[in-house]
Amino acid sequence: MEIRRDPITQSWVVCGQREQTDDKDAPCPFDPGVADSAKTLLIWPPEGTWQVRVIPHPDALYRVENDPGRAAEGIYDKMGPLGAHEVIIETPEHDKKLWQLSDEQIDRVVWAWGTRIADLKKDARFKYVSVFQNQGALAGEEWTHAHSEVTATIFVPRRIKYELSAAHEWFKDRERCVFCDIVRQEEKQGKRIVDVQGEYYALCPYASRVPFEIWLLHRRHNHLFEQPRPGSNRRQLAALLGRVLRRLEKIAPAFHLVVHTAPNTRNKKGELAGYWKTLADDYHWHIEIMPILEKRSKSYSIKEVYFNANLPEQAAEQLRAIDPNT
Ligand SMILES: [Zn+2]
Ligand SMILES: [Zn+2]
Ligand SMILES: [Zn+2]
Repeated sequence: MEIRRDPITQSWVVCGQREQTDDKDAPCPFDPGVADSAKTLLIWPPEGTWQVRVIPHPDALYRVENDPGRAAEGIYDKMGPLGAHEVIIETPEHDKKLWQLSDEQIDRVVWAWGTRIADLKKDARFKYVSVFQNQGALAGEEWTHAHSEVTATIFVPRRIKYELSAAHEWFKDRERCVFCDIVRQEEKQGKRIVDVQGEYYALCPYASRVPFEIWLLHRRHNHLFEQPRPGSNRRQLAALLGRVLRRLEKIAPAFHLVVHTAPNTRNKKGELAGYWKTLADDYHWHIEIMPILEKRSKSYSIKEVYFNANLPEQAAEQLRAIDPNT
């Protein structure tokens, strides 16, 4: 396996065959008993029956022991798949989904996301730590047992780079965070807001790429998801996330969820060198959820331009009308 860079778009692409381990009769790797034999990266509670457990991904895309070996091949750039790839097992119960857990349990999963990001960022080689969840077959989920994934990479993913540079530009012109500005305007207009809990907002973004795209943001500025400010009460975020997913589950069979936080600033060299100065003021963590509807024909990208047949204002209205408590 190796990672190659597209010289035009600057996207990094992981190339090569993954070791195929999927054996239909194999036991679920995340069930108690089976998962217990894997290396434990984080566990809660520390003793007794676990609720949340983090283990290395059984079929990792990136590995800690790899030598980055950044090399040139003529004009091209490539490197070895150095990094980390972990699985957060969200519940020991095989058939439960994240949205079926209690607010307290979801809060614990959200805590595990932040704890792993903070821990992996201690390694200055890792430039970015991603937390994501592919839920449902259409989203390419690898196991049905509720889990999210963490990857630490020695490059910053392209979408994050775009966000960082756009946020940086916005700040340079206005001395304000673009995400804070978005929350203020959405608050005022109200029409794209799906739900609110305390100071946490769930909204359909103005230029939603797919029907029912949802972002979760905190009203208070903070660039680091993994470092909640005092009084930010993550239990409210957990409650909001649970309600949003219970609504979505009634209209979309699958979704991608991703946590966007600031990159690792321990390594100030390289591709983002120019951005660090105002990063703490211009970037703002958020969670993005991209549902996948069965009727794919209604939402597809034509030459990289998204076509979304469903207006975000209508999507938010539909989502608000769904009872999240059933
Ligand atoms: Zn299982
Ligand atoms: Zn902000
Ligand atoms: Zn984002």
